[in-house]
Amino acid sequence: MKNIAIVGGGIVGLCSAYYLNKAGHHITIFDDGNLDDTCSIGNAGMVVPSHIIPLASPGMIAKGFRWMFNSKSPFYVKPRLNGDLIKWGMKFYTHANKQHVEKSIPVLKDISVLSKSLYQQLATENQFDFGYQERGLMMLYQNSETEKEEIEAAHLSNKHGVEAQILSLAEIQKLEPEVKVSAKGGVYFPGDAHLIPQLLVKNLIQYLRQQGVIIKSQSRVDDFVVNGNVVERVRVSNDLISFDEVVIATGAWSGVFCSKLGIDLPMQSGKGYSFTLNDMKKNIRVPSILIEGRVAVTPMGNSLRFGGTMEIIGTDRSISMNRVKGIVETIPAFYPEMKVEVPAPQHIWSGLRPCSPDGLPYIGRSTKFNNVIIATGHSMMGLSLGPATGKLVSEIINERPLSMKLDALNPERFN
Ligand SMILES: Cc1cc2nc3c(=O)[nH]c(=O)nc-3n(C[C@H](O)[C@H](O)[C@H](O)COP(=O)(O)OP(=O)(O)OC[C@H]3O[C@@H](n4cnc5c(N)ncnc54)[C@H](O)[C@@H]3O)c2cc1C
Repeated sequence: MKNIAIVGGGIVGLCSAYYLNKAGHHITIFDDGNLDDTCSIGNAGMVVPSHIIPLASPGMIAKGFRWMFNSKSPFYVKPRLNGDLIKWGMKFYTHANKQHVEKSIPVLKDISVLSKSLYQQLATENQFDFGYQERGLMMLYQNSETEKEEIEAAHLSNKHGVEAQILSLAEIQKLEPEVKVSAKGGVYFPGDAHLIPQLLVKNLIQYLRQQGVIIKSQSRVDDFVVNGNVVERVRVSNDLISFDEVVIATGAWSGVFCSKLGIDLPMQSGKGYSFTLNDMKKNIRVPSILIEGRVAVTPMGNSLRFGGTMEIIGTDRSISMNRVKGIVETIPAFYPEMKVEVPAPQHIWSGLRPCSPDGLPYIGRSTKFNNVIIATGHSMMGLSLGPATGKLVSEIINERPLSMKLDALNPERFN
């Protein structure tokens, strides 16, 4: 049995604790907040084995430039003379090609399939509820250019064994009996699922505490005591605490955090927003992405959450009302009978996605330190990939055969 520190209490830290605790280790999670406002709380709750194409893909650069000059667009990079951003951007640029996509697809598919099967286990073991539903995911589009791209993506998915069905509006409407949909068409991924992230996090925390996991909120890990290639202690406020292993699951802050250990982990945060409508009389059934606006729509019980936007502007979580307006203005084109007002700022949530430049997570043991494991960089898929990441972290620490190959996810792949 080992004494393990997990730094970061988002979904990745919590899932790592879940599997490490099951394996009999003694776990302490440190989080600098209260674990109730991480990126893992207000996200769109989608579990997406359909997302086999990484963010760094052909076409993203051109689209990104087009969106840059529209204050309501779903994507923005704040131009600034920041060395980390420039290096990250260069790496993103060199990976946004067909070869990288082809290489990444099997990796993303393996980890997504593993993660979904673990969510199924969590849901059926009935230890805690998190509103898990398997109703698939719909990609809805309005124009011919998007239709062409989505149909190509659907063919690619089917080629790689991820089922994608191209649907007419009438077929979409059949799947959505309560809410009128307007779209040129859509692609339906029946293998996707969704859940209520804030319920998952709350109940997982409660379950972990019952199992003896120590969760320390308002506890920022700000330094380490290093001896050769071992991190002997972590510093939290004025306390220096010894651990056998340290898991770094610090989300968007992981680049800065790893730099304290001299580990180069290219990372930018991708800010997104969400807001939730409650007491929906008529709700959508199938989580959907309104492609032209890049808006994610997820039913959560009788609530409905809208999420979107990717702003690469540092770790500032303030709200840009123009971007939120962009999300709201997308809605009527797809759901013409749904009346949605721009929410007041206090009802808007923002979160920072931890984005690696090649669109793949970082999961693995550091080569610089024998007892440091890095688990982050999941970008738009951290909720989806949380359980698989946690399981892989526990397999690494337990020195068990891995559920999948981790070469492509090596945290030091950019060194
Ligand atoms: C609008 C939006 C919609 C999204 N929708 C989806 C979706 O539908 N499906 C999906 O899979 N993903 C989605 N995501 C992405 C997903 O939410 C993230 O990938 C995921 O939450 C990242 O989890 P994490 O545990 O790595 O980081 P976080 O949840 O950010 O947790 C990291 C924690 O570490 C803490 N920390 C940092 N530094 C320190 C330190 N030095 N000491 C102690 N604690 C520290 C932070 O404060 C934070 O609490 C969405 C994101 C956004 C913004």
